[in-house]
Amino acid sequence: MNEILKCPKCNGDMIRGFIPDFANNFVKASSWFEGQPQKSYWNSFIKISWKGWFGKVGIPIAGFCCKGCGFIEIYSDPGFAAK
Ligand SMILES: [Zn+2]
Repeated sequence: MNEILKCPKCNGDMIRGFIPDFANNFVKASSWFEGQPQKSYWNSFIKISWKGWFGKVGIPIAGFCCKGCGFIEIYSDPGFAAK
């Protein structure tokens, strides 16, 4: 995927970024998971494991933000994983 896209709203340059996930003193990049989230039985958090949600592996997501108007478009791609 191109690192710089054109904004569908104003045709400005869109710059790649990521959406951090802050939890339990860890920070990681957010991922996409199929389906609807379910609350844990033990607390108000969403069920998830180190492998992902119910053992599924999420697809890393990246957001492309327009420098002109601020519009954000989000894509999923295994290539967006942290390096
Ligand atoms: Zn724009």
